[in-house]
Amino acid sequence: MALPLDTLLDTLSARIIAAAEELTELDSAIGDADHGLNMKRGFEAVQAERTNILAKPTGEALKTVGMTLVMKVGGASGPLYGTLFMTLGKELPEDPTLADIGRALQASVVALKARGKAEVGNKTMLDVLGPVAAHLESGTASLDSVRALATASARATIPMKAIRGRASFLGDRSIGHMDPGARSSEILITAVCDVLEGKS
Ligand code: ADP
Ligand code: MG
Repeated sequence: MALPLDTLLDTLSARIIAAAEELTELDSAIGDADHGLNMKRGFEAVQAERTNILAKPTGEALKTVGMTLVMKVGGASGPLYGTLFMTLGKELPEDPTLADIGRALQASVVALKARGKAEVGNKTMLDVLGPVAAHLESGTASLDSVRALATASARATIPMKAIRGRASFLGDRSIGHMDPGARSSEILITAVCDVLEGKS
C-alpha cells in the first residue's frame, strides 16, 4: 500500500502536538513533566523541515524525521523515537504491506531495546510498540485490531512497576499510572492506522 508521507507527517505532528498537555500530565505523575513538551518540540521541528523531508525518497525522509527527533526531542524519548524512525527508514520497502510494516517495526523494536537496555514489561513505550509490531508481523492484523491493541497495551502499563527510565526511580510508586511514552506510542500507532485508512 502506498504510504502518503505528507499526510503521515502532518497527522503524526498534529496528533502529538494536540496531546502535548496530556502527555506532560502523565509524565508529571511518574517522571519530570516534560514528555509532552519534548514530543511537541520534536514534531514542530519535523514540520519546520517538512519541505526538505518530503523532497526525499521515503526511506531517506523517515531517516531525516528520526534525526530531527534525536536532535530536538531530548530526554530519554528523543534518541528512542529517533532510532524508531531511522530504523523504519532503513527497513521499509516501497509500497509496504501491513506485514512489511510489522517487520520494519519489529526491527525498530529490536534497535530500541538495545539502545534503551529495556524489555517489554518494563513500563515503557516498548509495551505498546513490541506487541503492535508482533501483531502486524503475523500478517493477520486489521487496522481496527491494531488500534485496539495499541490502546489496550498503553492501558496495560498502568498496573506495571517501572524498571527502566525515570519512572523506575519511584519503584512501587510508579504503579497505578499510565506510562507517558506508551501513550505517545499509542497515539502515533493510531495516527498511522488512520492515515492508512484515509481517515485522517
Ligand atoms: P525523560 O524521561 O528523559 O524525561 P521523556 O519524558 O521525554 O524523557 O520520555 C519518557 C518516556 O521514555 C517514558 O515514559 C518511557 O516510555 C520512555 N523510556 C524511558 N527510558 C526508556 C528505555 N530505557 N527504554 C524504552 N523507553 C524508555
Ligand atoms: Mg520526562
